[in-house]
Amino acid sequence: MTQTIAFIGLGNMGGGMAANLLKNGYAVRAFDLSEDALARAEGHGATRAASAIDAVAEADAVVTMLPAGGHVEQVYDRALFDAARPGALLLDCSTIDVATARRVSEAAATAGFEMVDAPVSGGIAAANGGTLTFMVGGTDAAFAKAQPILAAMGKAVIHAGGPGNGQAAKICNNMLLGATMIATCESFAMAKKLGLDAQTFYDISSVSSGQSWSMTSYCPVPGVGPQTPADNGYQGGFAVGLMLKDLKLASEAAASVGASVPMGNAAEALYQMLANRGEAGRDFSAMIEMLEGK
Ligand code: NAD
Repeated sequence: MTQTIAFIGLGNMGGGMAANLLKNGYAVRAFDLSEDALARAEGHGATRAASAIDAVAEADAVVTMLPAGGHVEQVYDRALFDAARPGALLLDCSTIDVATARRVSEAAATAGFEMVDAPVSGGIAAANGGTLTFMVGGTDAAFAKAQPILAAMGKAVIHAGGPGNGQAAKICNNMLLGATMIATCESFAMAKKLGLDAQTFYDISSVSSGQSWSMTSYCPVPGVGPQTPADNGYQGGFAVGLMLKDLKLASEAAASVGASVPMGNAAEALYQMLANRGEAGRDFSAMIEMLEGK
């Protein structure tokens, strides 16, 4: 029998994700506060719901893809738990703080529902293409039920442990990415000042110990390495504002458990400087221009 998914939050990411559920044979009941987002979802074959409560009433599972923790806590309220079908699985794919993810999961459990936090790696292109990576926090039983739904929207679905651990994996990964991108940018900028050609430095470092994803998959220098946002004036890709959001979540999480994250803190300060220059909407590898003094 066709499974029905209530999909709440059909923006840049959620729109493509819901379209992939539809392509994979799920029925989708869509709700968003934005008329444009709803119209786009209808265009892909989703049914429009009048509210989040209306969306979940007949659904076998609920997927949310919302901006931040406050929105997630607002959507998973008492009224939604009252309206959802007994046994419906709840999946939050938004990137939010670990503490809120654990609080919402606990509220769901108290109301009798299984829930996973399943934030994603990959941007809008991966959401549209169904090639996201999901890092999932929740019980073994909840993960087993969530797996086929997430697999319809992604290329990898990885169980990270109990509730909140998906968010923990996401922010630790992005803190690492934020810092390695800055280190890659400053190395290229210094190499240039020392008279070392960028392509030559790439050829050496990409097969040496300085190699990282930021260098060989997302090189910040135009014309060097694979095609990246650097080749497109730093448009598209992963916005500085979103990296900054994740680094703020990382510092908050670090403070909550007394983890020492000096590199994460430095990365947050540098992306904040880039955002203050009016570059929050550019790709995060545009950091190299700031470090080159442009
Ligand atoms: P977005 O702003 O494009 O979409 C969010 C949608 O949620 C909007 O359409 C908005 O109208 C809707 N919404 C907000 N509050 C709502 C409510 N109470 N009820 C119903 N709908 C509501 O954001 P996005 O880029 O799609 O990102 C969504 C999440 O994915 C964020 O947590 C973000 O950090 C994460 N993420 C984004 C990217 C990316 O490249 N854009 C990559 C990885 C993860």
